[in-house]
Amino acid sequence: PPPPTPPHVVMLASPGAGHLIPLAQLARRLVAEHGFAVMVVTLAGLSDPATDAAVLSSLPASVATAVLPAVALDDLPADIGFGSVMFELVRRSIPHLRALVAGSVVGSAAAIVCDFFGTPALALAAELGVPGYVFLPTSISFISTVRRVVELHDGAAPGEYHDLPDPLALPGCAPLRHGDIPDGFRDCADPVYAYVVEEGRRYGGADGFLVNSFQELEPDAAEAFKRDAQNGEFPPVYLVGPFVRPSSDKDADESACMKWLDRQPAGSVVYVSFGTGGALSVEQMVELAAGLEMSGHSFLWVVRMPSTDGLPYSMGASHGNPMDFLPEGFLERTSDRGLAVASWAPQVRVLAHPATAAFVSHCGWNSSLESVSSGVPMVAWPLYAEQQMNAAILTEVAGVAVRPAAAASGGGDGVVVPREEVAAAVKELMGGEKGGAVHRRARELKEAVARAWSPDGASRRALEEVASKWRNTVHKQR
Ligand code: UDP
Repeated sequence: PPPPTPPHVVMLASPGAGHLIPLAQLARRLVAEHGFAVMVVTLAGLSDPATDAAVLSSLPASVATAVLPAVALDDLPADIGFGSVMFELVRRSIPHLRALVAGSVVGSAAAIVCDFFGTPALALAAELGVPGYVFLPTSISFISTVRRVVELHDGAAPGEYHDLPDPLALPGCAPLRHGDIPDGFRDCADPVYAYVVEEGRRYGGADGFLVNSFQELEPDAAEAFKRDAQNGEFPPVYLVGPFVRPSSDKDADESACMKWLDRQPAGSVVYVSFGTGGALSVEQMVELAAGLEMSGHSFLWVVRMPSTDGLPYSMGASHGNPMDFLPEGFLERTSDRGLAVASWAPQVRVLAHPATAAFVSHCGWNSSLESVSSGVPMVAWPLYAEQQMNAAILTEVAGVAVRPAAAASGGGDGVVVPREEVAAAVKELMGGEKGGAVHRRARELKEAVARAWSPDGASRRALEEVASKWRNTVHKQR
């Protein structure tokens, strides 16, 4: 007889490398360690296709990929905001997902996994009679924020919205000041707010949540969710992270940054990067450059094109040479101890390199986990999305970061972190008393990550628990 088809997991990734990268890692583990066939489904239109392709091409051939056909979005109001467009894109793509699933894996489907923005897929999963899970590529505390939004609105009159309290108290998380609440949750008049409320209302319909975090990073928040699952108040939440892309890219070793790092003394370099979407204003780039220069420390800076529209991010492919925006003579003056590279560095390798001592970071969750996994402490410099909240977790819960006061506001409102603050934060992290404590915490958490993935580690066991539930589903279908 032909070998039985392996059970299929269909994973829907919302646009953006920061969403796709950890989802791809989850796919890799499900195939390699749990015997599933996985199909990663992406959406056309809002992410850079070349970046998506680069992420997907690193996956084993046994992970199938599909891109859903484009959907029209031109009827949306121009000022609706990027988050709302994301929600609409995914919602409108569900019929295409239904057709894809019906045409390929029905009968052997073990689960449908969507991420934040993708929860309309939970209704599709229910319709097809397969488990529907949500993969959160961010902190467990983020789920608490969404829950609070829904709590605030259930009971209110339909269509009536309220701002979250300030500060926002969340179980096991530092109280969030208004500015640290994720974008889209901060102001109930923002068009995206209604989408967040809807998103949160769908959470109760999930069979479970997979979160790219680990017990020892957010221990009290994890406990709170465990209690809620036991009491039947919320679906089970499995901490299955951190997913960090293995550094298998051979070309990376040949890159200018790795060769440069090889020549630097151990623990001497400050790595500076704002992720795949973060963008500084031209003025902020100048202050950052001056601050790095003032700090006297060595640095490796991934320079991206500045933002010209006042927003702290830019999406899609960018054109132009970001180096043109550095201050006059900066590269020459710092050539003996600094390297600036345009747009991209092999970050996981950079963070794992012995020369790298600290990370000035936008606190994207993937970057944060990569830093923690390498034991590298951070200067938290959040820009947008849920990065301010991540910064609060890293600084106040995990204790692996210092945060310049001016970096608290996120940069979207024209606040510039002055050079003195940049230099002071770097110096503190590289030699100050607080910096020492943060370094020690980073080393402890690096060990905790290793434990989480050890044969009997918590993240490994959590994923196995989910996998065995999924296998049973297929068993019952057959
Ligand atoms: N990344 C990288 N090189 C760069 C910039 C980013 O390899 O120069 C990777 C980084 O390692 C991480 C991801 O891109 O895995 C960025 O995800 P994150 O959640 O940190 O931030 P986002 O880009 O979504 O803001």
